[in-house]
Amino acid sequence: MEIKEKILALREELRQHNYNYYVLDQPIISDFEFDQKLKELQELERKHPEFYDINSPTLRVGGEVIKNFETVAHEHRMYSLDNSYSKEDLLDWETRIKKMLDDDIQYTCELKYDGASISLTYENGELKRAVTRGDGNQGDDVTNNVRTIKTVPLKLKGDFPPKFDIRGEIVLPYEGFNKMNEERLASGEEPYRNPRNTASGSLKLQDSAEVAKRPLECLLYNIKGHKLDINTQFESLKKARSWGFKVPSEAKLVSTTDEILKFIEYWDVHRHSLPYETDGVVIKVNDLAQQDELGFTAKAPRWAIAYKFKAERVSTRLIHISYQVGRTGAITPVANLEPVELAGTTVKRASLHNADQIEKLDIREGDEVYVEKGGEIIPKIISVELSKRPAQSVPTTYITECPECHTPLVREAGEAQHYCPNYNGCPPQIIGRIQHFISRKAMDIEGLGGETVALLVNEGLIKNYSDLYELTNEQVVPLERMAEKSADNLIKGIEASKAIPFERVLYALGIRYVGETVAKKLARHYKDIDTLVGSTMESLVSVDEIGERIALSVLEFFSSEENKLLIERLKKFGLQLRISEDQMANQTNKLQGLSFVVSGVFETLSRTDLKKHIENNGGKVSSSISSKTSYVVAGDKMGPSKLEKAKALNVPIIDESKFLEMII
Ligand code: AMP
Ligand code: ZN
Repeated sequence: MEIKEKILALREELRQHNYNYYVLDQPIISDFEFDQKLKELQELERKHPEFYDINSPTLRVGGEVIKNFETVAHEHRMYSLDNSYSKEDLLDWETRIKKMLDDDIQYTCELKYDGASISLTYENGELKRAVTRGDGNQGDDVTNNVRTIKTVPLKLKGDFPPKFDIRGEIVLPYEGFNKMNEERLASGEEPYRNPRNTASGSLKLQDSAEVAKRPLECLLYNIKGHKLDINTQFESLKKARSWGFKVPSEAKLVSTTDEILKFIEYWDVHRHSLPYETDGVVIKVNDLAQQDELGFTAKAPRWAIAYKFKAERVSTRLIHISYQVGRTGAITPVANLEPVELAGTTVKRASLHNADQIEKLDIREGDEVYVEKGGEIIPKIISVELSKRPAQSVPTTYITECPECHTPLVREAGEAQHYCPNYNGCPPQIIGRIQHFISRKAMDIEGLGGETVALLVNEGLIKNYSDLYELTNEQVVPLERMAEKSADNLIKGIEASKAIPFERVLYALGIRYVGETVAKKLARHYKDIDTLVGSTMESLVSVDEIGERIALSVLEFFSSEENKLLIERLKKFGLQLRISEDQMANQTNKLQGLSFVVSGVFETLSRTDLKKHIENNGGKVSSSISSKTSYVVAGDKMGPSKLEKAKALNVPIIDESKFLEMII
């Protein structure tokens, strides 16, 4: 087969597998097979850059960084929807439109997805542009970010019109949202509050590679264009589905108000088993000619109305406020409630977030409180029923001491959370840190679980993670529920962890704000622990993606004598505290101190590889040209504004081969 045909065939095949996996949720090949094919395509594309295609499945990983999103006008205005909250509201609406139309009316009932609205433009079956709703007339061009969302087809299938816009909602399903939060918690960061805000925030991230990592989905519901040969809303959903879009299948075509109400009642209960958040139902006149007749008010279509579900809310008594101490020492106040049924589960606890929140709502023990369940796993208290407040009630005074070790709490300027500063003596912090150290993404110590860690600490066998490496079989065997065999496995697991690479050891140390990605960046940049320990504020913030907040936390960690001692011991035990020879072999300091901006399309290297080369050789990649830029590496089709800026600031522009000469 000709190379070009081979590439095209692979792209087509991968596109179909992506569709099966992300849109239909029915993969027909294993992840491994998929990866093999993707690698094959990547390899071919690397060797044959002449067949570059921005819509190739290999380019879903993002990488383009955008500082300011361009504002673009919507060709068809993006209206909002009128809301209704009761059966009466709905009947009113129906009466109004019946007066304006002569014929019978059918309705499409759809779910109202709670996310960020988006308008996608397709030309000749290819995604051209993705724009946020903005003020309805114009929004932000977020095409680069939207390209990374796997349910957004980059090329359409079937019988699509040559040009049209399609509207939908970008959502973050619960599962992915919860996973993102687990990761944030693991790196000592505050979790995101809800999926909707996280979804809309994601669209405005500057680095599309970051967006690519987020499990966003795009659900479509409305097609706009000229001469589309579509007659009804329901038909348009079917068509969109056939072109490869993800169009949820819950939509229903109905003819009577009763059926509308049944749809609403059904989904008010069953929506909790959907994988993403919904906040209501949208009822649309089905016939597009009738829609035209009804037209729009200044703000919304007359032919559609949203019915908003009441947020699931119950009242119950707040028995007691307790306080939890996390591994980073952060204090979380927790409401212990009289158990109550809410959205299908029994709720006993609710998050109170922090001291400000308690004060703002004036929440007190003994109060009757309203609890609501949004997208979060843990329900929250939204208000207090003041009329039922007991006579002897007293305002809540936030604790001033750690509930576990009685050290006075601190709260730094600009932080919402209180902290227990007793880093080395506070039991939940000690245990939490060791639990983090052994966790799967850190040292991944087999045969050792979180409970055993707590047991080891409580029995006085270990005080920190370095102590793990001096544990003996004889010490472990007498522990509760520990058989000879499991003791053996535990010691073996600890021994095996000595081979875990430097970047993961760095993550395992549990430095606040140093998650997996930051740990990787630091490991690559500093190459060994001693250099990192000796680093300065200035040097730290020069590392890509490391800001002052992270830098301060790193400096603080390594300025502690105890931590230095811990690390000396880890070194003595033989843990990997420098990057491996293999990694080293690829790295030089040839570009030390130089800052690069990469722009355009390249012949032999992909942009990602180019950036990797820069970083591996000690250089820094930045996204926009400034007086600090040393070189612009320019390929084909370099952006005209970048070119102008580089010229104005006298920044040298080099091509790919010049760049390669620099690192040989
Ligand atoms: P609102 O923001 O409350 O005025 O509601 C209008 C928004 O609901 C629209 O702009 C869409 O972003 C969103 N929406 C979610 N699901 C649908 C749907 N099935 N049909 C129409 N709009 C929807
Ligand atoms: Zn404490």
